[in-house]
Amino acid sequence: MSNTLLDLDAPSLLDPEDWADFRAQAHAALDTALEFIEQRQQGAVWQELPSSVTALDQPLPRKGAPLDSLVSDVQKKIMPYTLGNTHPRFWGWVHGSGTPSGLVAQMMMAAINANMGGREHAPIYVERQVIRWLVELFALPEGASGVICTGTSTATLLGLSVARHKKVGQVLRSAGNAAMPGLRAYASGQVHVSVSKALELMGLGTEALCAVPVASNYSMDVNALEAQLQADIAEGLEPFVVVSCVGSVNSGAIDDLQAINRLCRKYGVWHHVDGAFGALSILSESLRPRIAGIEEADSIAFDFHKWMHVGYAAGCLLVADGEQHRATFATSQAYLKAESQGERVGMSGGAPWPTDFGVELSRGFSALAVWFQLREMGTERLGRAIYRNCLQASKLAEAVTEQPELQLLAPVSLNIVCFRYAPQFLSEEALNDLNRRIVIELQCRGIAAPSSTVLDGRTVIRVAITNHRTRWSDLQALLNETLALGAELQADAGLTSSVLSANF
Ligand SMILES: *Cc1c(COP(=O)(O)O)cnc(C)c1O
Repeated sequence: MSNTLLDLDAPSLLDPEDWADFRAQAHAALDTALEFIEQRQQGAVWQELPSSVTALDQPLPRKGAPLDSLVSDVQKKIMPYTLGNTHPRFWGWVHGSGTPSGLVAQMMMAAINANMGGREHAPIYVERQVIRWLVELFALPEGASGVICTGTSTATLLGLSVARHKKVGQVLRSAGNAAMPGLRAYASGQVHVSVSKALELMGLGTEALCAVPVASNYSMDVNALEAQLQADIAEGLEPFVVVSCVGSVNSGAIDDLQAINRLCRKYGVWHHVDGAFGALSILSESLRPRIAGIEEADSIAFDFHKWMHVGYAAGCLLVADGEQHRATFATSQAYLKAESQGERVGMSGGAPWPTDFGVELSRGFSALAVWFQLREMGTERLGRAIYRNCLQASKLAEAVTEQPELQLLAPVSLNIVCFRYAPQFLSEEALNDLNRRIVIELQCRGIAAPSSTVLDGRTVIRVAITNHRTRWSDLQALLNETLALGAELQADAGLTSSVLSANF
């Protein structure tokens, strides 16, 4: 296209020509979105994807299309085939369920389109306010800092980087890991894979992670931790961080934070908490005592998008020593310099900037979604929703133990229940196979969405309740359907107890 065809003084090429028409279409889109949130709670939690969704054969759009045709496509081709985490029977992995007002928050974020790297504008003060609220919530010391990021995986990478900087010192920033060979991290064998991923990205490799054994409740064996620290120090290795689990991914186990605090202080090691979902149990007065000691950790990584139901993606790193946090990431390039002249701040004022506390420069305004959720719901209501999930989990565990065909495979620390369908006389291998199939059938028939995991070699049906829409009747339905499916699949495969016991 020749430039002479482009009117250089015409209005924007990308804004609507007819605002009134656009506004009408946008209002209709909002209604479609609200209807989705309301309607998606009924019917199947998930369905297998048709080829019309998975084919990926749409041509690259060279010409545009009207907004309402795109919204209609979303409504027909995407909305019916979501994972179902906004549905009351979704308990897979750890997902948040969102809230209708989250839609309004995301809309405001899109309108403002703030770049949250730094500089002097109101959105930055919203993020600072949110961080200040969280520092207060977790009772961290004066001078604590924080940064909002996309999730706990990123927050953990940032947190471990601060821990390493503290251990090695400023020379780390020029010399890298060569400045201190033998750096070593510690976590229970139940820790989330994001920790070893972080160590890989930091150039330390997965072998830098020592897997500490767990006790029978799947929390870290702190005596084993101390023995390992002593042995490694004697060998000349450099322990720099212990990562504790506040809500382990498999079973929701909570490590002994106070004991780990003591060991970390004794051996001069950073204590980082992976509290992806569990840390926010601090919002409930009833649960708060279970994570006592979190206020003395050096850093805490957690998600807003899981148990606080903020729209994806929003997580957070909090660091007790804000100066250490800043020293790990701050730079002083002229083109990014925070400046002011006397009384006049100017747009590039307002230091320190969020970019001084992490790796991203341009970032989105998730802080607004968190600010919305905290202000609309209040900490008490959010805490009640979290506590209700934990009570539901305890009741589910109780119901499991009352069923002779079911077996509870881990104690319930918070909101995760691990159990299996375990009729007598089946081999461990057959039980693993049967329970994997039960989970897949529950999902494919749209009945409910638990996930599966493995604990001590046993495949378990894992129900992680981070869902404010779940009712007890949903969990009862899960139990009934699990029993029915177990019997059905067992009969299908000819795995009746009599056949098997005859073979034994
Ligand atoms: C989800 C989760 C993570 C990873 O968090 P993301 O927000 O998905 O990056 C880490 N640890 C635990 C315990 C988790 O549940």
